[in-house]
Amino acid sequence: MSENKRKPIYLDYNASAPLRPDAKAAIIDVLSIEGAALNASAVHAYGREGRKIVENARNDIAKLVGADKNQVIFNSGATEGNNTVIAHFANNYPEENIFISATEHPSILELAQIYKNVKIIPVDQNGLVNAETLDHLLQENKTSLVSSIWVNNETGAIQNVSELSEIAHKNGALFHTDATQATGRIPVNIKENTIDFLTISSHKIGGPQGIGALILGLCARTPTLLHGGGQEKFARAGTENVAAIAGFGAAAKNALEYLNHYQALGKWRDDLENKIKAISPEVVIHCENAKRAPNTSFFSIPNANAQSILMSFDLEGIAISNGSACSSGTVKPSTTLKAMGVDETLSNAALRISLGWASDQTDIDAFLKAWEKIYHRIKK
Ligand code: PMP
Repeated sequence: MSENKRKPIYLDYNASAPLRPDAKAAIIDVLSIEGAALNASAVHAYGREGRKIVENARNDIAKLVGADKNQVIFNSGATEGNNTVIAHFANNYPEENIFISATEHPSILELAQIYKNVKIIPVDQNGLVNAETLDHLLQENKTSLVSSIWVNNETGAIQNVSELSEIAHKNGALFHTDATQATGRIPVNIKENTIDFLTISSHKIGGPQGIGALILGLCARTPTLLHGGGQEKFARAGTENVAAIAGFGAAAKNALEYLNHYQALGKWRDDLENKIKAISPEVVIHCENAKRAPNTSFFSIPNANAQSILMSFDLEGIAISNGSACSSGTVKPSTTLKAMGVDETLSNAALRISLGWASDQTDIDAFLKAWEKIYHRIKK
């Protein structure tokens, strides 16, 4: 790829978005300091410089989710954020239930196998939790926490988190949402959506990988997973990764400015799906009629082999995914589609395209050209 300098056709933003130029510049600035380290906890001048960078980034990240800066706790990403919140409630309220939706990311879903008080709420055919089902469950079972993914990483379906959080609160439970795929894609506001805990990740919005944040709502509780030094006001021990935080902050600033543009991707996505239907009329587009994030399309050709189609796209120089990024490469059927009741002939054939900040029409045209070729080959 580097030899001919061709722009990559990258349609896998939900797995990890390319680094934004401002984020890259912010990281390089920090890493370019020679002979001293910007340890944000140190009192010397380099420490104070590091602290300034961390606090500026905290401010930009808080704005992206409608929070105050003191509500933001830096961590290593959404996997850690999700584990922190669920493990806190599972361990501290052993007699109470934690209800999670059946379409959570594995960093929440797998905790149901570790903690016996973590229970799964069934979802409808679009992978969404039904408000009445939740209300009924909460009335019958003493519950400390409800957790629901905001935007599904595979289908892009948008859960009405305000409605679910209202039901949780009415029944005496707190509410957590994994907003990893929501931030920067749809408006997110922790106050307006009355959320108690919100997890986000830098690399989904064009920041570096390995950095994220847990945003605390107004419930005045601070779940803590890592103990040790007093960093992040004792909420998350470990020396802050100043360079990554700087990149995350720059990406958050860009993502907020770019929100309207992101919404406009929906027109491209719809156009792309219409053209996919014209080429391959038997295609099934998952959650087609649900409210979806504007950048995501998840579809199946009945009985097709998603893994081999993925490899064909790779040979054409086009990066897409066959479902959840965390299970891609290991050929695991999609847990989201299974929870939605989708037949195996479709779930094993599911392909995901996800667009983002650097996507343009040439990416979509290249995808369609390759799809036409690959589809006709598999149909022979
Ligand atoms: N939640 C969702 C919805 C995700 O898409 C991902 C990334 N695949 C994660 C959590 C985990 O994020 P991270 O890579 O920052 O740990």
